[in-house]
Amino acid sequence: MEELDTKTLSTLRNLLLKMEKDLDEQLSISKSAAGIVTLDQTSVGRVSRIDAMQQQSMAVSTREKSRRRLKNVKQAINSMNSGDYGYCKKCDELISTPRLMAQPEAKFCLSCQDQSDRQQ
Ligand SMILES: [Zn+2]
Repeated sequence: MEELDTKTLSTLRNLLLKMEKDLDEQLSISKSAAGIVTLDQTSVGRVSRIDAMQQQSMAVSTREKSRRRLKNVKQAINSMNSGDYGYCKKCDELISTPRLMAQPEAKFCLSCQDQSDRQQ
């Protein structure tokens, strides 16, 4: 059975920890951006209010994506700690290293990901 070598694992761990930090920062910055509309509601005109609302809804959906990604990143770090990192959650095969390098928080191998993408 092939396994991820220690060097690859430590590279991936560093990637995940950096992603966790970046996403945490991003989420705390966008927290204030998502709150702008309610603060300014009385002082801005109708048009700029609509503008601000569009910006807010964009900020909210970006936040939502970042939050989901952060959750996956944290799960990946957890599975690294428990030693079952890098295996597909569906078919139990080892996920290919290039795929993990590109997306360290990946939960599925390429073919299982393909299948679940098609079902959606
Ligand atoms: Zn799979």
